[in-house]
Amino acid sequence: MKLFDTHCHLTDSPLAQDLDGVLQRALSFGVENFMVPGYDLISSRTACRLASANPLIHAAIGLHPAWLTPATNFSPEPFRQLARLRAPAAIGEIGLDYALNDYSAAQQAEVLRGQLELAAIMSLPVIIHCRRAFEPLLLILREFPGVFGVLHAYGGGPQLAEKFLSLGHYIGFGGGLTRPQARKVRETALMVPVERILLETDAPYIGSHSVAKGESEPQDVLAVSQSLADLRGWGLAETAALTTANAFRLFNLPERI
Ligand SMILES: [Zn+2]
Repeated sequence: MKLFDTHCHLTDSPLAQDLDGVLQRALSFGVENFMVPGYDLISSRTACRLASANPLIHAAIGLHPAWLTPATNFSPEPFRQLARLRAPAAIGEIGLDYALNDYSAAQQAEVLRGQLELAAIMSLPVIIHCRRAFEPLLLILREFPGVFGVLHAYGGGPQLAEKFLSLGHYIGFGGGLTRPQARKVRETALMVPVERILLETDAPYIGSHSVAKGESEPQDVLAVSQSLADLRGWGLAETAALTTANAFRLFNLPERI
């Protein structure tokens, strides 16, 4: 078995303090690849550092809408420099979040556009975060037809997913899928074309049916994989192989022997 956690914050507490233990436990569950997204310049640099020290870890760099303040004067230049220097696998996590308090829709859109432009220039895929802003997100993504990525931690229904799929994006399923009562997302997991599904934990933040919020680890992607396998009637090893191949394709990662 060969699972890929396509979204885990190994830069953050408590995972960062016990990185070797976290990776060991993940490996013992068959999780062999880790995508670590940044959410500001510092975490993006840290993600790149982790990736250059360990071939199982891959980095994404970006500025997350939750890290914007009214004083943020976004410039893509430091991210562009970091991308040139460290060759991250993706731009992310980036997006829109209207569930935040006191957000500015105009500022979020401007910062997102700047980073989608960077992704286009660097020919990199994107990792997208979105809460309560799916329609404005779709409008902005349509301005960048050459940029593809993954809508991470998807929790919505099939109709919404269809709109992102038609633009070429992948759908990232996480701990939400393990909850029997999560009807909408489980319905979506049944209809997404097999070649567009990624698995993730968003560790340590998003929990699952059996793991509390803030306590998840990349090893928990096994439970997500099991839920998907059960839903689709696939074998567990087959589910792992398919979803891992999807991640390697989206993030343009070289196959290791
Ligand atoms: Zn995240």
